[in-house]
Amino acid sequence: LGGSISRAIQQMSNATIIDEKALNECLNEITRALLQADVQFKLVKDMQTNIKKIVNLDDLAAGHNKRRIIQQAIFNELCKMLDPGKPSFTPKKGKTSVVMFVGLQGSGKTTTCTKYAYYHQKKGWKPALVCADTFRAGAFDQLKQNATKAKIPFYGSYMESDPVKIAEEGVERFKKENCDLIIVDTSGRHKQEAALFEEMRQVSEATKPDLVIFVMDSSIGQAAFDQAQAFKQSVSVGAVIITKMDGHARGGGALSAVAATKSPVIFIGTGEHMDEFEVFDVKPFVSRLLGMGDLSGFMDKIQEVVPMDQQPELLQMLSEGTFTLRIMYEQFQNLLKMGPIGQVFSMLPGFSSELMPKGREKESQAKIKRYMTMMDSMTNEELDSTNPKLMNESRVMRIARGCGRPIRDVMEMLDEYKRLAKVWSKMKGLKIPKKGEMSAL
Ligand code: GDP
Ligand code: MG
Repeated sequence: LGGSISRAIQQMSNATIIDEKALNECLNEITRALLQADVQFKLVKDMQTNIKKIVNLDDLAAGHNKRRIIQQAIFNELCKMLDPGKPSFTPKKGKTSVVMFVGLQGSGKTTTCTKYAYYHQKKGWKPALVCADTFRAGAFDQLKQNATKAKIPFYGSYMESDPVKIAEEGVERFKKENCDLIIVDTSGRHKQEAALFEEMRQVSEATKPDLVIFVMDSSIGQAAFDQAQAFKQSVSVGAVIITKMDGHARGGGALSAVAATKSPVIFIGTGEHMDEFEVFDVKPFVSRLLGMGDLSGFMDKIQEVVPMDQQPELLQMLSEGTFTLRIMYEQFQNLLKMGPIGQVFSMLPGFSSELMPKGREKESQAKIKRYMTMMDSMTNEELDSTNPKLMNESRVMRIARGCGRPIRDVMEMLDEYKRLAKVWSKMKGLKIPKKGEMSAL
């Protein structure tokens, strides 16, 4: 898919004159690619129509990069389609909110409930989980296990078979305990069945959720629109979470879910673990949808800001995909200087957005400097190692002593390293342009 979109755009750039025919060809090819990415047919058609309205061929003034204008128009259009125009209800810390999760069986509700609770707990909330799934055997055990692991209070029953009763009791109890985020996990069915929607309606009526989150598996394909709409018709869905974005699916169903529920996507699930959960960020998502990977604009940026003679080395380093603590140290230096290479790295998804969020630069710089001080207490072997098991307890203790910081801080720095290594590894196999090709990209 990525290939075919890049090819379509590439063909555009090869055409000497961008005329109507070339634009249509490009759009047709992108249409096919978007359909493969599970974007609903109607939405693709809408996008096509809008692009034709936006991209006025006469306006493509000579001298401008036409390919980029069209690419940008498509990109913007898809971003717009993911924006329902109003934000979802956002719970407030310290004020009680009830959040109900709905979705088909296997979509990832129970997993996502815990991730959502854990995410907020880390930010100082008092979340609690209620298991109102009495349909699936073992549902309560699963939630209990997850909740225990994350040290989150939970409520459920092995005996009671009425989900409405459990939901009501659970919400009641946690309201009394002053929890500020009461999360209700519900049951699903393999198929969209009347009984399921009736149950959702009743649970919702009993618990009066401030927010209903529709959880959707990214790989469900063209069924996404109907599924989202069916839930929206029985309960007032106010937000969407797309799961399993770590798999092969590009998640085109998200566009359908937004269109059907008129609600925004708020998070994505990127793995089975509790912390594999990210705030939804529309641009990287659309890049992925278009098969531009996480690298959209990245090559352009390299070309723009890094001196010619440093480009090959940088690309080589990235394409190898190995991320040692020493490379992290050097990238921290770059980031602090915000020199040309720092600017490039700040574009890597997850690199600066989380390391140095906007508006919190001072705080983040202090953190990065703190990390660097800790790394100054590391040996060369540690800095250059590619063995994740090397950093054992005794090394961590030695480093903590060496830099005079608590062990917890060293662990935090190493966690950050693991996270960045994961981001970095996405660059592995990056195609390195040959000499002279760079400017033609
Ligand atoms: P539920 O039936 O809707 O409650 O779904 P579960 O939470 O039980 O999840 C179904 C399966 O999907 C489980 O094996 C989960 O571990 C898995 N799962 C959920 N979210 C993700 C995700 O973001 N990535 C991956 N790889 N697996 C996930
Ligand atoms: Mg479940």
